[in-house]
Amino acid sequence: MSSASGEGLPGPDKSADTGLSSASGEGLPGPDKSADTGLYVPNFMAMKKSIEPVRIAVIGGSGLYEMEELKDAREVRIRTPFGRPSDSLHIGRISGVPVAFLPRHGRGHRLLPAEIPQRANMYALKSIGIDTVISISAVGSLREELVPRYFIFPDQLVDETRGRVSTFFGSGIAAHVGMAEPFCNDISNFLYERSLALGITSHKGGTYVCIEGPAFSTKAESEYHRKMGYSIVGMTASPEAKLAREAGLCYAPVSLVTDYDVWKEGQEVSAAQVFETLKFNIDNVRKLIVDAIGHLPALMRTCNCREMMKTAVFTPKEAIPGRTFAKLRLLLKGNI
Ligand SMILES: [Zn+2]
Repeated sequence: MSSASGEGLPGPDKSADTGLSSASGEGLPGPDKSADTGLYVPNFMAMKKSIEPVRIAVIGGSGLYEMEELKDAREVRIRTPFGRPSDSLHIGRISGVPVAFLPRHGRGHRLLPAEIPQRANMYALKSIGIDTVISISAVGSLREELVPRYFIFPDQLVDETRGRVSTFFGSGIAAHVGMAEPFCNDISNFLYERSLALGITSHKGGTYVCIEGPAFSTKAESEYHRKMGYSIVGMTASPEAKLAREAGLCYAPVSLVTDYDVWKEGQEVSAAQVFETLKFNIDNVRKLIVDAIGHLPALMRTCNCREMMKTAVFTPKEAIPGRTFAKLRLLLKGNI
């Protein structure tokens, strides 16, 4: 098997004209050509046999573009039916546990929040067998008591983004997944407890409002968010959390407070302030990731994140167009 990006694979890259393509990369097997559709789909069964299972992924946000704590790391470039992820997946071990790391904005921070290929990111993680996603991001605080440099583990989400595609479905298949509890409470509670154990000032609960960006809020918007009772403001948790739910993944955000947004007189956010505080936070979140991942495999879960899609698809199987079914096969397996 050749390395990276599909060169030398047994078949052409069909992504340009079909929207579908193959998963490939170092150490991963090539695609299967689907006999009935002629489209190229990832050979997931072969992938699972050829590499050690990787169940946990970390998505790094602003300031966290690589993880030196990742041992024996290798890069895996993946194509998905939804295009390429933000970057290669970096797969290695943290605390002895297999982990995939993905920098959300790409190395070099090249992608605006609205430019992040969220569907490709989540699909790529799902395709290598990930079941748990720890999502790191910088946020602004909307509450006096949520002080910069605190870690917040929110339990609710308000989506104020505009025009981002927030579902894998459509094109002949309708699905409505439950989002009443948008994050995995088991993983979130676990991360909160590990954070406390490390001495990081942390807060559990609260509402993350996701704005479109890329500009920071106006004072009027910040005051509006405060009056609505929201706790923190960021730009990336949506549609990330929705897509994780559709993919049947346990998804938990770790929100690093970098500033008071712009509502607090004399402490309005600036890019320079964000980066200074973020550096402090990144040092702490690295410690949290190393500690938490070492303990995570032993965590007993009672959540139903993986079962939520079982009742979400409204379209009868026989009514789903073959092309759409082929594209979503990975997500539909066991759910229809
Ligand atoms: Zn869960």
